[in-house]
Amino acid sequence: MPEPLLEVRNLKVNLRLGGAGEVAAVDNVSFSIDRGETLGVVGESGCGKTLTASAVIGLLPPYTAYVAGGEILFEGENLTTKTPRQMRGLRGQKISMIFQNPMSALNPVYRIGAQMREALRAHRKASAKEALQISANMLRKVGLSLPETRLREYPHQLSGGQIQRVMIAMALLSKPALLIADEPASSLDVTIQAQILELLEALRKDMGTSVLLISHDMGVVAESADKVMVMYAGKVAEYGTADEIFTRPLHPYTRKLLGSIPRPDKDVERLTTIRGMVPPLTQMPSGCRFRTRCPYAAPLCAEREPPPYRENGHATFCHFAGGVRLSADAGN
Ligand code: SF4
Repeated sequence: MPEPLLEVRNLKVNLRLGGAGEVAAVDNVSFSIDRGETLGVVGESGCGKTLTASAVIGLLPPYTAYVAGGEILFEGENLTTKTPRQMRGLRGQKISMIFQNPMSALNPVYRIGAQMREALRAHRKASAKEALQISANMLRKVGLSLPETRLREYPHQLSGGQIQRVMIAMALLSKPALLIADEPASSLDVTIQAQILELLEALRKDMGTSVLLISHDMGVVAESADKVMVMYAGKVAEYGTADEIFTRPLHPYTRKLLGSIPRPDKDVERLTTIRGMVPPLTQMPSGCRFRTRCPYAAPLCAEREPPPYRENGHATFCHFAGGVRLSADAGN
């Protein structure tokens, strides 16, 4: 079997809380991504999705967060043992990231061309003329019209959707093996969102790039993910192929997330909501972290953390996933 491009094993990321000690914001998280594959990471805000991705690319907030355990194997090498300098060499070259808010990711006082040229020259030798030529070709590839004109413009002259295309083009300049897309379209309106997601999917197929796609929306990952990891309160709730997760979800949290997607093919009066909120990291419940919001919680759920129930390469962290079949959602 070929080695996965990225394999994360038992990752633990701790946050330092000033005088109040430390908490594990990402706890025992494991997953892998093969070459050319898309992994969708889903969960509400505060579930540890962005911290997990930041640990992979070596961009955890300095002083406040650090990798406290586990391994991040990229092309067989453990990134947790790399120096900051070695990680700078990998970032933007073999692993790139596009961020949630494209408007704040570009420097407002430099033209697009200057910013793309710098991004390119950070990793490879190219004359100014060559760099602009490569940048224009990449802007064309991501569907921006009049790329030579765009290169002469400042960020404020472009729309949100155009800026996000520029960010994608910049991330792909070095033809990275892995692209991390953190809520790449959530700040854009729905039509542009759909266009950006279609573009990412087309580029993945064309360039063979693997994608780690982060979203709070199951509907977004349903379009393009080969595998899905559902996270809740810093832990994996469920992990498997997209086919398994969407057709046979076993974890109550996954089922609730799926119930909250509007389905044009189904006549549903009310979408499912999930009562309550993700608990703060300093007040995690004992046992299963989802138990304060789970309609099926039983005494066992407070006593012990659920071990994984595995079937068909699908792992579910719920005490009842393999035994008592959970009935239809209670709708709360
Ligand atoms: Fe719900 Fe218990 Fe399963 Fe957790 S272990 S998801 S509380 S039934």
